[in-house]
Amino acid sequence: MHIRIAAAGAIVALALGSSYISTPVHAQPKPKPAGQKIDDEYTKLIKQYLQDPRITTELVDHLPASDTVPTPLKFFGRPVGAPGELTYAKDIYRYYEALAKAAPTRAKFWKVGTTEEGRDIVLLAIADEGTLKSLDKYREMLGELTDPRKTSDARAQQLLKTAKPIYYAISGMHSPETGGPEMLIELAYRLIVEETPFIQNIRSNVITLITPVIEVDGREKEVDTYYFNKKRAQGEARLPLMYWGKYVQHDNNRDGMGQFLKLTQTVTKETLEWHPTVIHDLHEAQTYLYASTGTGPYNNDIDPIVVSEWWALAENDVMEMTKRGVPGVWTYGFYDGWVPNYMFFIAHSHNAIGRFYEVQSYGPDPYEVRPGATVTSKEWFRPNPPLPSIKWGPRNNTNIQESALLFSLNHVARNKELYLENYWLKNKRAVDKGKTGPTCAWVIPATQRRKADAADAVNELRRQGLEISRASSAFKAGSVDIKTGDYIIRGDQPFRTLADMYLSIQNYPPQNPSPYDDTGWTFQYMRDVKILPVSDPALLAADNSGRMTLLTADAKAPGGIEGTGSVLVVDHTADNNIVTFRFRNKDVPMRAAEDDFELAGHSFRAGSIIIPDAHRSRLEPMLKDLGLSAWAVASAPSVKTHDLDVPRIGYVHSWTRTQDEGWWRAALDTFGVPYTYFADQKLKAGNLRSQYDVIVFPHVGGSAVSQVNGMPMTGTTPLPYKKTAEFPNIGAIDQSDDIRGGMGIEGLLELAKFVQQGGTLITEGSTAVIFPEYGLTTGVTVEEPAPLFVRGSILRGKINDMKSPVAYGYGGAELPVYFNQAPVLRAASGGVGGFGGFGGGGRGRGGAPGANPNAGMGQNVTPNAVPLRIQPFAPETAGTGESGAAAGRGERPPADDVAQMRQLATQFGITLDETRPRVIMQFSSDASNLLLSGTLANGQFLTNRAAAIDHALGKGHVVMFAIRPFWRWQTQGTYMLGFNAIMNWNDLDAGKPAPDGRPTQ
Ligand SMILES: [Zn+2]
Repeated sequence: MHIRIAAAGAIVALALGSSYISTPVHAQPKPKPAGQKIDDEYTKLIKQYLQDPRITTELVDHLPASDTVPTPLKFFGRPVGAPGELTYAKDIYRYYEALAKAAPTRAKFWKVGTTEEGRDIVLLAIADEGTLKSLDKYREMLGELTDPRKTSDARAQQLLKTAKPIYYAISGMHSPETGGPEMLIELAYRLIVEETPFIQNIRSNVITLITPVIEVDGREKEVDTYYFNKKRAQGEARLPLMYWGKYVQHDNNRDGMGQFLKLTQTVTKETLEWHPTVIHDLHEAQTYLYASTGTGPYNNDIDPIVVSEWWALAENDVMEMTKRGVPGVWTYGFYDGWVPNYMFFIAHSHNAIGRFYEVQSYGPDPYEVRPGATVTSKEWFRPNPPLPSIKWGPRNNTNIQESALLFSLNHVARNKELYLENYWLKNKRAVDKGKTGPTCAWVIPATQRRKADAADAVNELRRQGLEISRASSAFKAGSVDIKTGDYIIRGDQPFRTLADMYLSIQNYPPQNPSPYDDTGWTFQYMRDVKILPVSDPALLAADNSGRMTLLTADAKAPGGIEGTGSVLVVDHTADNNIVTFRFRNKDVPMRAAEDDFELAGHSFRAGSIIIPDAHRSRLEPMLKDLGLSAWAVASAPSVKTHDLDVPRIGYVHSWTRTQDEGWWRAALDTFGVPYTYFADQKLKAGNLRSQYDVIVFPHVGGSAVSQVNGMPMTGTTPLPYKKTAEFPNIGAIDQSDDIRGGMGIEGLLELAKFVQQGGTLITEGSTAVIFPEYGLTTGVTVEEPAPLFVRGSILRGKINDMKSPVAYGYGGAELPVYFNQAPVLRAASGGVGGFGGFGGGGRGRGGAPGANPNAGMGQNVTPNAVPLRIQPFAPETAGTGESGAAAGRGERPPADDVAQMRQLATQFGITLDETRPRVIMQFSSDASNLLLSGTLANGQFLTNRAAAIDHALGKGHVVMFAIRPFWRWQTQGTYMLGFNAIMNWNDLDAGKPAPDGRPTQ
């Protein structure tokens, strides 16, 4: 069959072999391997442990024997899928090492990374003898297919016949999802040992790479936790998996763009080295096996071929399993396919295929699955649905996912030319986009306001595989003036797909299925750096090639000191390195300017750091290293200043959830801000002010009440989270003799007392509502407007108090901010208009802009036909105010409790003054220009609501962020709001307007 494909204006005729649908399939299970002995004992145990005879296939109902290669039974003393047992990553590694040793012609094992806690991340490669011997040669072939700038069409056609796809299976990302790593123990053995034509085909036509556990730190904690709980008496509280990795839990699979975590960095490194054709991530959160496609909307910047590949692979799984009578294998629903923050999306940003499974949980103790009607109904995407009830166990989990994965491997082996050709075409089309546009390149000005953060952005994009050049002379490209030293991302490179994904503006019409995660992520907005698209292809013409040089090392912003004199003035540019500079020089007295000022021909922003009698030879190398600019002058500028007192920082976490808080730790650790980390229970001990100046209390989740109460006091014995000789992996990060119970009212009062006595408390997201809800602060109300729909979007934030120390360094009054549905805070002093302007709007997304174009058809099949209207981000004057009415209330402290709390607080010596809160930033006053990227419906419920508040209480302050300044290593642009609050903790009242609008003295 011949297909004509238009590419770069040329028609390329490609001869395709048999397509994936033309290969005959066998309706009957294949016979057992002839001539190869079966391991009878192992096979017997498979049958014994399987809880339901329907969950099997001819691929996994036996285990081939081997005289040389140890079976899992021989190695571990039990087969994979034995109830009541889990395997540590370190033991899986020992087994893989043994496999590679016993079968060196078919398996190779090596280390590819190290986790935050120092554990190895590994890789096992499996292929036939000829392939494994020439692994580097095959790796290079895929490298050639990756780069059409270096590889000719003729060479590519040869490679399609000779190269072999790499199928990279990864598991153990989400530590409580335990079955994937177990299954991969057996899969590796089977792939190495079995001699059926089916497995031989995989071995000789596909290179299988396996990382059995990617979140290694979490796996070891999970296995410890399982065995720990096994020893607890019935009725006593069970230990949840507290920390997974060092920083975050489930969000380790939301790091695909930010790439802070070692596990993500490792997969990127392996992707850039091996160019895997498929990255397949194995999870456990659906009944019985979900193969990813998703409901859409699919990511706008993946090559359209990918969508068909998702479906071809998923439908192959569904078909093969259904053919064998295995129920409950399905595709379509569950997730959307939109945001590229999942680990497997690293494949997509590099033009390969990323996919995942969600399997019914391994256990490892057998249980019964009784799903509801929405899971068991027969649907078009679920032709053989899960059963109303079934006995499940770890062997069911192994059988179903091992079979499906083997069908996928075999499918790719049989259709290797098809997938290699698609891969080549995707790379080719990406390069061609540089010429055809609409975006031919992107320019990152090197001398922009946040120049250190711009260099950091350049380095992050480079680390993920983008090639970035520097302009060696000034020239004009279309409407963009390029200066010498500016960074240029050429659009004619294969991984420009990554730039398209990250740098685009997202438009997620609310008519779509409910988003699975964030809807907006525009890189330059979240980082508050300028990145300019270039639409003129002339930039890439050969005569411009001498005007740019490919970066071969990290970019570094110019920094240092201009002029001479004993006083040093460091410009506050909102570059995150400012906080590093402060904390690296704790012993150096520094002052902060409380106003903008001019000096030495330069305009300085409020917050600029003034160092009298500066030690130039010590500070200059540091400023250079950090990419910060300073001016040396003879005498200090005549601007009002305050001391930048270095605070002692306490950092509070809850035992109920150690997830989002980790992103704050990530930022504080990276930028060198020291803190003492402790659980909220310890607040009860009091005496906080004598120990801390600042307490950071990041998002926990839940209501004010649940956050105060903490873990339920289940059972009669304490529930420790402590390292022991038997369980050395738990008790990492923090420990407790009993994690039950939270701060309680007592702890909350101590926290209020801390503020009352002059401390600064920094809260965000869910923790921002605790003080307002308990009546400890006045003038801030928490709203829950039911019609508001804003899921992980980027909104237009307006800094309406540029003199607040929290806003120091920011160059303009508008700032893109990340916001996700709640909390909606209304501050008494905010510029909120009158009530009653909004009439109705309906529930949910009923009031969303644009009518349903498919009204009356029963299903909206074209949800993207009516895009949202999104105004570009450019500083402009504020629009006129609109208003909305609040509706709906969640779990709140009852009015009596609040009254009692306020009474208690007074008895406690806390003065509940009626000071109006200082609104540092609020959401745009115009609902029509509120959304910058993502989704939004009924934005009028968010206009003028507070995004960041500084609430004075006694001698201290409570800083409340409704936005999430430290969101997943993506919001570098708002980190400084938090850093500023920390650095200026003792002078947050600086520049505070009096009630009549004039600044106070
Ligand atoms: Zn998962």
